[in-house]
Amino acid sequence: TKPLLKVENLKKYFPVKKGLLGKTVGYVKAVDDVSFYVNEGETLGIVGESGCGKSTTGRMLMRLLEPTEGKVEFDGKDLTSLTSEEMRKTRRDIQMVFQDPYASLNPRHTIEKILEEPLVVHGIDNSKERKKKVREFLEIVGLSAYHAKRYPHQFSGGQRQRIGIARALMTNPKLIIADEPVSALDVSIQSQVLNLMQDLQKDFNLTYIFIAHDLGVVRHISDRVGVMYLGKMVEIAESEQLYAQPLHPYTKALLSAVPVPDPNHQKEQILLEGDIPNPANPPSGCTFHTRCPAKMDICMKAIPKLFEQYSGHSVACHLYSELSGNDIKQMEGSL
Ligand code: SF4
Ligand code: MG
Repeated sequence: TKPLLKVENLKKYFPVKKGLLGKTVGYVKAVDDVSFYVNEGETLGIVGESGCGKSTTGRMLMRLLEPTEGKVEFDGKDLTSLTSEEMRKTRRDIQMVFQDPYASLNPRHTIEKILEEPLVVHGIDNSKERKKKVREFLEIVGLSAYHAKRYPHQFSGGQRQRIGIARALMTNPKLIIADEPVSALDVSIQSQVLNLMQDLQKDFNLTYIFIAHDLGVVRHISDRVGVMYLGKMVEIAESEQLYAQPLHPYTKALLSAVPVPDPNHQKEQILLEGDIPNPANPPSGCTFHTRCPAKMDICMKAIPKLFEQYSGHSVACHLYSELSGNDIKQMEGSL
């Protein structure tokens, strides 16, 4: 396995403007120095509450949103250095599936037209071949060829997400970024769509980035999971490792809210105090300190860096920092 995607020090700062002249008075650090990789054929789950920067990260990977800083290396190419024309061509290899398929499917277009569009945009196949492919892919995602002439409103939510997935597959991409693809669906439908995505991953050798707001949804689909809080990656590990031994207090709290099959093994839910702070005015030091049940004095002063605690398991928290206890004491003395 080799990384298909490598993200280094990715940042997105949105200026905060004030007054009649729109003077920039500060920045919302929506994504603040995020680094990770995704190996070919694997699924990386990215989890966090709304506003943590996970969707912004996803959109920057495709340059639907320009990064403020950082590097996105995909398939050996630095995407941030491509011209818009080169980027446009590269998008056939990276596709997105969105949370709300209804909003992302043009209501006035037939399914045929919707699924054909990415092929038209990228100049793939002639009209006859495209129409044949549309019908093939409808079957592949569990719909029928005769659905091609229908309109989005004639489908259920789950069927619409199947259409969204078919559309993402049309150009034969390598990477699919799925931004909360099942969050709007009933629980019973969720698992059908997740199963479909897993089958497609094998059949088409796909790599996934799967964005979700809770750890329950990504558990079975992800090989590795990253947890984001206020624009930062606070923990990342192989799934089994993360669920068995979460390190970051935020991950622990998120995980305590995920129901387990056997209620006798349900851990007591860790309720976090307060809301997510305003990202325009984040807390000092560790931005989680205002809600952290384990916070120490140093947490308000020093920003914890993401640090590899165990092989493949990194965490950004002073409880596990690369500094020894003595170093921390010294540092606190000097602050
Ligand atoms: Fe909590 Fe401190 Fe760790 Fe932040 S650095 S998560 S405040 S213990
Ligand atoms: Mg989002």
